[in-house]
Order: sequence, then structure tokens, then C-alpha cells
Amino acid sequence: MQADLHVHSSYSDGLLTPEALCALALKKHVSVMALCDHDTTDGLAPMAQAIAKANAGGEQLRLIPSVELSTGATGSTHILGYGVHPDSEPLRLAMAALRRNRASRGQAMVDALGRLGLQIPPELLPNDATAGMPIGRPHIARALVQIGAVQTVEQAFERYLTPGKPAYVPLEHLSTEQAVTMLSTARAVPVLAHPMRINLPPQVLEALIISLIPAGLRGMEVFHPSASRSDTRMLESMARRHALLVTGGSDFHGERGVRAKLGGLPSGWCCCDSDVAALQAAVDAAADNRLAT
Ligand code: AMP
Ligand code: MN
Ligand code: MN
Ligand code: MN
Repeated sequence: MQADLHVHSSYSDGLLTPEALCALALKKHVSVMALCDHDTTDGLAPMAQAIAKANAGGEQLRLIPSVELSTGATGSTHILGYGVHPDSEPLRLAMAALRRNRASRGQAMVDALGRLGLQIPPELLPNDATAGMPIGRPHIARALVQIGAVQTVEQAFERYLTPGKPAYVPLEHLSTEQAVTMLSTARAVPVLAHPMRINLPPQVLEALIISLIPAGLRGMEVFHPSASRSDTRMLESMARRHALLVTGGSDFHGERGVRAKLGGLPSGWCCCDSDVAALQAAVDAAADNRLAT
């Protein structure tokens, strides 16, 4: 089985539409894919439709609907909610609030760039026509490339958009515990995304995980481009020690020339089939629970 449990579409900060993602997944022989857009579930219905159409034509691609919420003081702790259903009212309200925060924070970053003499035309960014789309730093980074201020998205991040750089504005977030609780209440399966990106020593990371399990944390994204081979081994043993689900994803955003390629997970995910089956079972059990309550 080829699984990619972390991809983004043009409904958040990815470049490809759900239809294009579906076509690429088939080309790359991905058989299970999770769409995890930031702070929105709006792409899930078109993604499901595109996949249903392909499957009606004889393909066998399975979608795990998901979402990625940014949390914590610096916003670098991300929680994936597998099996999310867009009908949970508290989650819908929280995501709408997060998107509003993103809109004003996006404008603050554009204003900061303007003060540096870099004017970004509004049509290069999510705008009234894309109302409600969660604007993120990648949109601004791509606009900086388009106006010729930098050559690459990476350069835009390095020069302007990371903490300490002149146009960085932090995003107001939920606490990690709130996000985990909200996702579990919405009967999704909360998984800690790319733990290496949180930049914590292993013991501190483990303490974080232990503190989130009572709130409902169920898994860890062990396989991700941000983790080296030895990081991955450390994360996998930590996850299994705490009986957490093990997941993996490319975090593909559609950019060329970056490490994250759709379906291209770091090697070494030996138990991929059983880990994906365990995640699917947890998603199904959470959904049954939702129907029962
Ligand atoms: P935001 O959620 O608006 O703070 O933006 C974070 C997003 O920016 C992540 O989800 C990635 O898609 C992207 N990102 C973060 N750091 C970098 C980087 N150094 N280079 C390119 N993309 C990045
Ligand atoms: Mn992103
Ligand atoms: Mn993330
Ligand atoms: Mn992501």
C-alpha cells in the first residue's frame, strides 16, 4: 500500500485543486490519501467527488478526510484531525475564527512588507473572491516571488516571513490541548503533526505527548520530511511506547523542487499497511461513536 496521510490543496495553502491532486495521486500510485488543509474542511467535498469519479472509472483511491490546526504559543504545534466531519458546530466556529485571525494577520504582514517598499497587489492573494480561504505565509511568499522581490518561496521565508524577520507576524492560535479536545469532541482522531518542527528536545516532546493523551491525542506523525532517519526511529519508538497511532505524510503543497513530493515518504515505514489500517479503524470507531451519540 502506498499511503500519503498529509497533503494540502488550493483550499488552503496548496497549489493544486482537489481534482489535480486526485490525478497526481493516481499517477504516483498512492492508494490512501488524507487531505489536511489548514483550518478549513471546504476542500473535502470536492476531493471526495473527484476521487469518487476516478473510482467509478476503475481506480481504487481512498480518501481520509482531515484538517490541520495550528496551535500553541508560536503556532508551530500542528494537530491533524483524521476522519473529521465538517458538521461539528464547535469545530466550524473555531475554524472560522482561525481564518478571521489569518485574514487580519495576513494583512499585517502585507502592510509590513509595504513599509519595506514591497507592494503586493491584492489580486495575488486570497481576496474577496476567495472569501473565507485561510491565508497563510506561503501565499505571501509566492506573491513575493511573483513581484520579483525574491527568487524562491524558501528565500521569501528566510528573508521576511520567519520569526525575527521583518514581515513575520505570529498567528493567534488555539492552545494545543483545546485543539485536541475539540477534534476529539468532533469525533475526529487527533494526531500530532511533524513533531520535529516543534523543535523540542526528545524528553520535552515526550512530556508534551504525555500531557496531551488525556485530552484525546491518539497518534504521532512519525514519517515526515522534517524528520531524519534517526529522528524517525526516535519518534516511532516514542509513539509505540505510548500506544499511539503511527502516521506518515509528505505535507505536499504542490511546489516543485522541494523535498515534499506527493506519495514520496521517507523510507523505513515498515508497518505502513498495519498502521494505516489501525488509523482507519480508529477513524471508523470515532464515526460510529458520533452516530451513537
Ligand atoms: P502559516 O500557517 O501562515 O504560519 O504558514 C505556515 C506554512 O508555511 C506551513 O504550513 C508550510 O506550508 C509553510 N512553510 C513554513 N515554513 C516554511 C519554509 N521555511 N519554507 C517554505 N514553506 C514554509
Ligand atoms: Mn501549509
Ligand atoms: Mn503543519
Ligand atoms: Mn501541513
